[in-house]
Amino acid sequence: RAKLSQKIQALKPSSTVAVTSRALELKRQGVDVISMSVGEPDFDTPDHVKEAAHQAIRTGKTKYTPVNGIFELRETISEKLLRENNLTYTPEQVTVTSGGKQALFNALMALLDPGDEVIIPAPFWVSYPEMVTFAGGVPVFVDTLAEEGYALDPEKVRAAVTDRTVAIMINSPSNPTGVVYPEATIRSLVELCTEKNLLLITDEMYEHIIYDEKHVSAALYGWDNVLTINGASKAYAMTGWRIGYAAGPQHLIKAMNAIQGQSTSNANSVAQYAALEAIRDSQQYIDFAREKFRERRDFIVSELNSMGLPTPTPQGAFYVMVDTTSIHADEIEAARRILDEGRVAVVPGTDFRAPGRIRISYATSMENIQEALQRIGSLL
Ligand code: PLP
Repeated sequence: RAKLSQKIQALKPSSTVAVTSRALELKRQGVDVISMSVGEPDFDTPDHVKEAAHQAIRTGKTKYTPVNGIFELRETISEKLLRENNLTYTPEQVTVTSGGKQALFNALMALLDPGDEVIIPAPFWVSYPEMVTFAGGVPVFVDTLAEEGYALDPEKVRAAVTDRTVAIMINSPSNPTGVVYPEATIRSLVELCTEKNLLLITDEMYEHIIYDEKHVSAALYGWDNVLTINGASKAYAMTGWRIGYAAGPQHLIKAMNAIQGQSTSNANSVAQYAALEAIRDSQQYIDFAREKFRERRDFIVSELNSMGLPTPTPQGAFYVMVDTTSIHADEIEAARRILDEGRVAVVPGTDFRAPGRIRISYATSMENIQEALQRIGSLL
């Protein structure tokens, strides 16, 4: 049997796997399980976007493209960043990747030497620390609390900086907490990065799924020390198309292109044409999706709280973090009971560094949400 690398052995197996495999097993046995664990909009990709993909196929746009993406898409992304975020990036300062995930991965591979530290506010999206570790770095966590609305204190971030710190990774609106950082927090973090010569990696994947707050792009406050990550998955219901992008300082974008050139090459050509159409003209879809998510958020938050499961109101994204300590002190056990007895699949907070909490995704129909809440209610 061929050996595996030390790198892969260090990759932590996910504690959510147990619950996910149990959900699949139950489904296979014919049990009707409601899935509230997935992180993707339940809406279909808008028709005009699909049509752009058909058109790309019909006209033979099915070959390799430049490694960093077709010029027209990078130009459209530059225009979007100016129009929506007030940021000035040239198409050369933009790179198109196979999902936001690959943009983050390429960035960390380009940045980190063994032992370099990356500061990550917790609770975090599960892939961040794993990607940092895989790239040879060391994740350093700064905890935030549900009781404080998961607000991030920039002074705590400053206190976590050491001479090995290379980057700070933030995600606003956040998966899983739904927190949206205020302008002052983001500005302080950029100032810290500029002062200490660090990179602020700002994952803005959920920027359009934001309810009453205003999304603020970090690069507004210090272009040289910020890498902006975004993509089509969450914004335009395009998870399967695998288009993400990064915009940032030229030397870093060039390094990321070099990694991509020797690994995956360009992102899917047809999907690039679809994303171009989505980014150019999707306001209607964005407004529609936001209002649907808002209705569901309001409903699920009020129902869970009235059931006696404390659930703060998220300001963005499409997840709620639920305090399940009244079901079981251990969130994996609570998630298991909700699955086995309630037939609802949710994600325990363990891998997000959110003990005593589960994450429920409300990116599913109102009917499913109502049914799932009834099932959780009877379990209680
Ligand atoms: N960043 C965050 C916070 C996410 O939740 C996700 C997807 O779940 C991604 C990035 C990656 O998205 P994709 O690779 O589909 O663009």
